[in-house]
Amino acid sequence: MSPGRVEWLPPEFAVVGDETFPARHVWCVGRNYAEHAREMGADPKARAPVFFSKPAAALINSDTVDYPASTDSLHHEVELVVFLGRGGRNLDPVECLERIYGYAVGVDLTRRDVQAKAKQAGHPWELSKGFDQSAPIGPIVPAGQWVPSEESLIELQVNGMVRQQAVLGDMIWSVGELIARLSCEVTLHPGDAVFTGTPAGVAALEIGDRVVARIAGLPSLAFTVRQPQAEG
Ligand code: MN
Repeated sequence: MSPGRVEWLPPEFAVVGDETFPARHVWCVGRNYAEHAREMGADPKARAPVFFSKPAAALINSDTVDYPASTDSLHHEVELVVFLGRGGRNLDPVECLERIYGYAVGVDLTRRDVQAKAKQAGHPWELSKGFDQSAPIGPIVPAGQWVPSEESLIELQVNGMVRQQAVLGDMIWSVGELIARLSCEVTLHPGDAVFTGTPAGVAALEIGDRVVARIAGLPSLAFTVRQPQAEG
């Protein structure tokens, strides 16, 4: 390694079976479905997408998720997650779609009370979004085997009850448009994941809840929220 240069070593993130994906960075977008934007008190058409991050280590593919510290309001947000096989900057939407490695169902777990306090105080959202196990995802399907369509159903159930349900066509910014916008802000790299926003119906999870998240045509994501484990 040359002096002053930090080389990035990708973590081998287990996806499913023998497949792994070297996750580099998790990008997320706030309010990308009109109804959810309204439920959070925003005008969907008024503004450019708001991007934020989670650490790559927040990704988890597991049957359980530990209830995090410092919250009484752990919210679920079902989202289509896009994984980049190639990066770039100042890309157009078509170039972005060509650089997608694959797709998965994900849940952007959010400490809503922590986020509300941060917003009120004008503080960063960081710890409301980027905590341990805050980015559960299902298996990644290669882009050649599945593409998002306007009619694709996106849904999240808790203990068998539907909490969130929409179609991908309800997105304010399409997958290509979102990544293109992001690529004008930062250089994107292979291994970057993009959570593309959540439809209306976000609500709190309790310990013991069984979460099943689905997008038509992708393998579903299922996990149980469990008591935080004592430090080992
Ligand atoms: Mn989200």
